[in-house]
Amino acid sequence: LSEQLKRFREPQLAKETIVKVKKSLQALQTYQGHKAIFMEFCGTHTAAFSRTGLRQELKEYVTLLSGPGCPVCVTSAQDVDRIIAFSQIPQAIIATFGDMVKVRGSEMTLQEAKACGSDVRIVYSSLEALEIARENRERPVIFIAVGFETTTPTAALTLTKAIEEGIDNLFLYSLHKATAPALKALLHSELTTTDKRSTNIDGIILPGHVAIITGRKCWDFVVQESKIQATISGFEALDLLLALEDLTQGIMNQHDQVGNAYGRAVSEAGNIVAQQAMEQIFELQGGDWRGLGSIPQSSYKLKKEYAAHDAEKAFTLPALPESKGSSCQCGDILKGIKTPLQCPLFAKSCDPVHPQGPCMVSHEGTCATYYKYERKL
Ligand code: SF4
Repeated sequence: LSEQLKRFREPQLAKETIVKVKKSLQALQTYQGHKAIFMEFCGTHTAAFSRTGLRQELKEYVTLLSGPGCPVCVTSAQDVDRIIAFSQIPQAIIATFGDMVKVRGSEMTLQEAKACGSDVRIVYSSLEALEIARENRERPVIFIAVGFETTTPTAALTLTKAIEEGIDNLFLYSLHKATAPALKALLHSELTTTDKRSTNIDGIILPGHVAIITGRKCWDFVVQESKIQATISGFEALDLLLALEDLTQGIMNQHDQVGNAYGRAVSEAGNIVAQQAMEQIFELQGGDWRGLGSIPQSSYKLKKEYAAHDAEKAFTLPALPESKGSSCQCGDILKGIKTPLQCPLFAKSCDPVHPQGPCMVSHEGTCATYYKYERKL
C-alpha cells in the first residue's frame, strides 16, 4: 500500500474522526430539526459503508440510503432479454462481465442460456473481448458493454483498436450509462425515507470513480438546481468520514458548489483524454434504467459512423418474451425508497446463491451488501 493510502486506513485517526463527525451530525440535526438522510449514489460506497462498519456506527446520527449506482443492477429486464436473444444468434460468442451472466431476464439468465448451448464467455475487460474476436475471425463476438463512465472510455478505446486492426467481427451492445442524468431523474422523483416519512434527502455522496473521469464541476447542477448538498467521496473509511463532514458543513454553511472530499483523485475537469475517447465513439441517447424507467440522454450508444460494430444495428432479434411480474423490489431499492431488509424475499428465497434480482447478484448490489454485512443472524 502507498503511504498516502495507509493514512486513509489508520484506525486511530478514524476513531478520532468518527467522534468529530458524530458531533457535526448532531449539530446538523439541531440545525435541520431532524436526523440527516444522506444517499450514497454508488454501490461501491454502499459496500464501503457496510464493510467499514460506519453504517451501523453512525445510524443514530444519519440515515444512509443506497442509490442506483450499480450498473448491473440498473440494467433493465428488457435489456437482459435482449442480451439472452443475442446469445442465441447462430455462431455468436457473447463476452461479458461475470455478474451479468447471473442476472435473470423474463425467462432465463445468460448462465442458463450457456447451459442450453450458447457460447458465453466471462471477461474482465473489453480488451479481452477484442482478443476473443481476433482468435475467432469467422464468428461474431458481441461484447455486452455494461458500466458507467468508469468503463465507457476503455470500451471506446477497444473499438478504436479493433477498427485500426480491421477486426470487423467485434460488436458492442452498449448498455453504458451516464450517471448525472440518472441523479437528475432521481432528484425529481419523490423520495421517501425507510420509515415512510415523506421528505427529500438532505445530501448526496457522489461516486468517486465516476468523478475521476467526469471531474467535480459537472456535478454542481445538484446543488444549484435541486438545492441539495452533495460531495464526492473516495472509498476508504476516512474518505467516507471526510465526505460526511464535508456534506454536513456544506449544508449548514449553504455552499453553492458540490464538495470534493476525494481531491487526491478527482480534479475539477476530470480526465480529458478519457472524455475525448468516449465522445469520439459514443453519443448520449435515451436509456432504460431498472427502477427509474426511461431517462433522456442517459445511455452511451455508438455513433452512426460505427454502426458496423453496433450489435443493435447489425443483428435483428426475434420478438422479446413478455415481461413477467416479480416480487423482487430492486426497483424501489435502487431509488432509495426501501432497504433490502424490507424485501420479504431477502435472505429467504433470495440469497447470493439463488438471487431473485440483480441487487443480490452484483458485488456492488445493495442486497448483496446487506446480505454480507447487515443481516441479523
Ligand atoms: Fe430483489 Fe432479492 Fe433484493 Fe428482494 S432481496 S429486492 S428479491 S434482489
